[in-house]
Amino acid sequence: MGATETIVLINQHLIDPEVCIRCNTCEETCPIDAITHDDRNYVVNPDICNGCNACVPPCPTGSIDHWHAVPKSAAYSLEDQLSWDELPALQEVPADAVVSAAVDSVVTPADTLQHNAAVSNTSHNAPWSAAHPYLNLYGIKNPLTATVAGNFRLTDADAESDIRHIVLDFGKQFFPLLEGQSIGIVPPGLDASGKPHYLRMYSVASARDGERESYNNLALTVKRVVTDHEGKAALGVASNYLCDLNKGDKVQVTGPFGTSYLMPNHAGSNILMICTGTGSAPMRAMTEYRRRLAANGKPVDGKLMLFFGARKPQELPYFGPLLKLPASFIDMHLAFSRVEGEPRAYVQDKLRAAGPAVVELLKGDTYIYICGLKGMEAGVLDALRDVCIAAGLDWSSLQSRMVAEGRFHVETY
Ligand code: NAP
Repeated sequence: MGATETIVLINQHLIDPEVCIRCNTCEETCPIDAITHDDRNYVVNPDICNGCNACVPPCPTGSIDHWHAVPKSAAYSLEDQLSWDELPALQEVPADAVVSAAVDSVVTPADTLQHNAAVSNTSHNAPWSAAHPYLNLYGIKNPLTATVAGNFRLTDADAESDIRHIVLDFGKQFFPLLEGQSIGIVPPGLDASGKPHYLRMYSVASARDGERESYNNLALTVKRVVTDHEGKAALGVASNYLCDLNKGDKVQVTGPFGTSYLMPNHAGSNILMICTGTGSAPMRAMTEYRRRLAANGKPVDGKLMLFFGARKPQELPYFGPLLKLPASFIDMHLAFSRVEGEPRAYVQDKLRAAGPAVVELLKGDTYIYICGLKGMEAGVLDALRDVCIAAGLDWSSLQSRMVAEGRFHVETY
C-alpha cells in the first residue's frame, strides 16, 4: 500500500472579476502590496497575501471577499487571475487526502500596525443610527433594467465640463437604496479585447424615498469624461454612455453597494460634508433627505455644514437649487478655483476660513463625509488638523475616535 498523500491547502484570496468595479481601494489598502492589477482585473498575489483581511471592509462591492481552498502547489497564479472573466468553481479536495493545513498565513504585529495605519483615514462601519442597507441584490449576471426618466445638463451650456443629472426609474421592481450608497452601471458592448465592459460605480444623488418623493427612482450625477488621467483625449466608456442617454432608454443596473458611507438618522446628529465636483452626489442625497424630513414636519435638529468646490459657479452641479436653501437649514461654503480675476479657492481654504464654526461642530455629535477628487483628501485633512490646533483640539485623537465610531467617511477617486 502506498503512503497517504498529504496535500497542503491554502485559503487563496481571490477577487471576483464579475463584481469588482476596479476602484483601486483594495490595492491602496493592502499593507503588504499583495494586490495588483492590469487594465482589466484586480488580483491577489498568493505568494504575498497573508490573509490579514485589511482590504475586505473597505471594498464597496464585496468582490474582494472570496477565499478558495486550493492545494498550495496548484495555487492560481497572477497570470491565471488576470485572464479570468469570472471566478473558477470551488475545487474538490480529494477524499483520501490528508489536509495538513487549512490556512497557510500568519499575521504579524507589524502587519497589524501597518494595516491600522492604512485604514485609519475612513470609517468602515456605519453611523450607529444608520438605516440597514440592502446589498448586492443584482449582479452582472442578473442586472436590473431601469428606464431613463430624464437626463438634464447641470453645467451651463458654455461651461467646459458637461455634468448631467440622470434619473433612472425602476417601476415596480425592488431596488432599495440609502443616501451614500452606489449602484453599478453596465455599459453595453465590448471592450478593446472583445470582452463585455465591466461595471462602473456611481454614487446615488437622491434620497432613499426617490428622486421624486415616493417614486421608485434615483438620480446620478455624471461628468462626461473626455480625457484620460494624463489629460490626453479619451472618451470614458460609461460616462459618455450615460450622458448620451435619452428619456425612455433602458439601462442595466447592479447593486446596491456600500455598507458604511451612510448618514446618521438620530435627532441632533450634525453632518459636515466636504466635496468637489461630482463628489457632491452623496451630499445632495443626504441634504435632500434632511430637507424632506423638515418639510414633512419631522425636524432633525442637527446642523448641516457643506464645503463644496468647483471650477466656477457655472460648473458647480446643483448651484441654483443649492442657493435656494436657507442658511438656517444648511451652512454653505462654496469654493471656486477658476473664476477670472479672483484668487483660486479650494474647499480646504474655506474650511480654514470657517475654522471656529467647524471646530464648534466637531465638538458636537458630528459625522464627516468627504467625497470627490483624490487629490483633495490630504489638503482637507491638513485643514481639519489646522483648525483644531488653532482651537486647542487634538485632531489626531478626535479623528481616530470618529473613525472608530463610524463618524468619518471618505470616498475619493
Ligand atoms: P473637478 O471639476 O476636476 O474639480 C472640482 C474642483 O476641485 C475644482 O475646483 C478643482 O480645482 C478642485 N481641486 C483640484 N485639485 C484639488 C485639490 N488638491 N484640493 C482641493 N480641490 C481641488 O472635479 P470632477 O471632475 O467633478 O471630479 C470629482 C471627483 O469625484 C472625480 O474624481 C469622481 O470620480 C469623484 N466621484 C464622483 C462620484 C459620482 O457619483 N459622480 C462619486 C464619488 C466620487 P482646479 O481643477 O481648478 O485646480
